[in-house]
Amino acid sequence: MVKRDLVLLVLNPSSMLDLMERALRAAGFDVAVANAVSAMNKSVDESIPSLIIIGENLGGLDGFSISSELLERFPTLPIILYTDHDTTGFAKSVLRFGLSGYLYPPLKMDDIVDEVKRCLIRARKLGDWLRSEVKRTTSSLAEKAKMSEAERSKLEAIIANIQDGVIILDEGHRVLFANQSVREIFQIEGMDISGRVIEDVVSNMDVKALIVRFADGPLKYHEVNFDDGRVFNAQYTPIPNIGAAVTMQDISYLKELDRLKNDFIHTVSHDLRSPLTAVLGYTELIERTGTLNDSQQEFMRRLRGSIEHITQLINDLLDLGRLEAGFDTRREMIQLDDILKYSLDMFDTEVKKKRIRLVSRISTDLLPMRANPIRIRQMIDNLLGNAIKYTPDDGMVGVEMFMEEKQIILKVEDTGPGIPPEEQGRIFEKFFRAANVSDSVQGTGLGLAIVRSIVESHQGRVWVESAMGKGSAFIVLLPAQD
Ligand code: ADP
Repeated sequence: MVKRDLVLLVLNPSSMLDLMERALRAAGFDVAVANAVSAMNKSVDESIPSLIIIGENLGGLDGFSISSELLERFPTLPIILYTDHDTTGFAKSVLRFGLSGYLYPPLKMDDIVDEVKRCLIRARKLGDWLRSEVKRTTSSLAEKAKMSEAERSKLEAIIANIQDGVIILDEGHRVLFANQSVREIFQIEGMDISGRVIEDVVSNMDVKALIVRFADGPLKYHEVNFDDGRVFNAQYTPIPNIGAAVTMQDISYLKELDRLKNDFIHTVSHDLRSPLTAVLGYTELIERTGTLNDSQQEFMRRLRGSIEHITQLINDLLDLGRLEAGFDTRREMIQLDDILKYSLDMFDTEVKKKRIRLVSRISTDLLPMRANPIRIRQMIDNLLGNAIKYTPDDGMVGVEMFMEEKQIILKVEDTGPGIPPEEQGRIFEKFFRAANVSDSVQGTGLGLAIVRSIVESHQGRVWVESAMGKGSAFIVLLPAQD
């Protein structure tokens, strides 16, 4: 049986209400009647009608506002407004409120039925259109979801198969994802690690340190060493709302190359030293063989200068090689201030020659430290030597040594040219010479690399603070013996 449309008449009792009821029933509609808003709501809750005819005035209430509320709940429900008398602007208000149509006397049965049918056809068309739109949007959403699912699988396949190790952790350091490379790196193939805390799965101390050290700020380079000689560069990157990603690249071959290069430099430097000593010896002998004229003396002076420079370079290279190889393990209890005083004495002639004002403030409460005195002296000599070398005549060099929370602090300040900010991060690299110094100031570019190696091998830290045109300050922090 075809379901008949239900029309709800929300009107005050009147002969017009009877007429409408009769006309609609005769046209094959089911009809329900409500004389008040409460009755209308009850009827609507029981079964939503196909159409509602509402009186402009219902027991003192405004038909427009009753319709508005209904449309809030059922935006596609067709509503016809009935008024006793047509007034100017009535039709406009009907449109403005989004109602479907209106009726007013004189009315014949056909007028009522025609208007109801017209509104129902329109509502049906609107309904059909809405349904097809929803269908279209849903299928396009499903299409998009399918696409993003495909993208996701692609991305997962890439991450799963790349050479670099990738571990995704949640905020509690539990493993959300680890690719095949990670399993190979840590030799944990076949082990189910998802959901487990990374520190429980991986025993490597360098990895643990990477995760813990992140609290001090992100690290660009962090080496992870394995007992079998493999070395990885690892990064820890926080991911908002997820946790963090740890990525690892195998740099074992780079480390091996570095070792070979260092071995080569070490061998070459060593082999160069003996012939150079001989050349230097002969330059001295030449002067004894007879009187040299002025030009010859000048050439000999330059020759000696160059040999000294090369010898210094070779000595620095050999030192650096020894320091980096970790051969320098000798330690004894020393008083840092004693060594500093010896170093200051050594530079006395140089300081006087350049008329530099040297201000030193050395605390008397310095604790001793376990260190290699020769290397510590070398470190201080390099810093003091640079300060004096780069400070112009009549400048000032300040040296401070004091305790701060069980650390010995050495500060060497000068009124030299300063170091450009973009180069301050590089001056501790081997062979790096900043653009601030003129070529007339001799150097090998290895002094600060040696300083850093020495400081780090004593578990200390060194850094520079400098402003162009004002000067530089090198600060060294070394742990004292309690
Ligand atoms: P160098 O033998 O060239 O002095 P270092 O490794 O000791 O090599 O220093 C590296 C570079 O850092 C220097 O070439 C210079 O540009 C800069 N530098 C070091 N100390 C100072 C300083 N006290 N004042 C200005 N620049 C400095």
